[in-house]
Amino acid sequence: MRLLIMGPPGAGKGTQAKFIAEHFKIPAISTGDIFRANVSQGTPLGIEAKKYMDAGEYVPDEVTNLMVRSRIDEPDAVAGFLLDGYPRTSQQVEELDGMIKFTGHSLDAVVVLTVDQDEIVGRLIQRAEAEGRADDTEDVIRRRQEVYAEETEPLIELYRGRGLLVEVDGLGEVDAVTQRIFDALDVVPES
Ligand code: ADP
Repeated sequence: MRLLIMGPPGAGKGTQAKFIAEHFKIPAISTGDIFRANVSQGTPLGIEAKKYMDAGEYVPDEVTNLMVRSRIDEPDAVAGFLLDGYPRTSQQVEELDGMIKFTGHSLDAVVVLTVDQDEIVGRLIQRAEAEGRADDTEDVIRRRQEVYAEETEPLIELYRGRGLLVEVDGLGEVDAVTQRIFDALDVVPES
């Protein structure tokens, strides 16, 4: 099973990614989480990524692509994976296509969480307070939303054209959203 989860910042991708990945017994790979882990460990990758993350900009494609390539080459991802937060640019889509094609597989579905951007600004500010994320001030959040609209939103149409899109309303209780995703993917959640 090879899945992607997409949606604007604060749509709840990370939360839902965990449930989906658990169900299919595949790793949930979040580029945001990998970058944050590198930032907190002070690795060279983290030092490079932080400059962009703090400003709400995307980390350059070459850096991100290499990181994802090495992560999905790990043994736990051989049978499948769920990517959360990648691809985010058309160049990343091309790169991912190449990586998957090389293994003789294909993408199974792209889950898109739809939410109202204005409603989630409040949610993101709350999360910033709870988690102490440096990229969650209001200005940076607005910038992340702009970058998403410019660079990532168009990719949804690309995947729609490939017949892979599974669109789910991301507003509401976490459990309700999870149920919608499983219904849309046509599977029964494991209890
Ligand atoms: P959110 O979904 O709330 O925007 P993430 O945790 O997915 O947050 O990502 C946080 C930051 O990490 C992004 O704003 C960006 O700077 C960087 N990042 C994550 N994934 C990518 C990617 N695929 N390409 C470039 N930058 C990325």
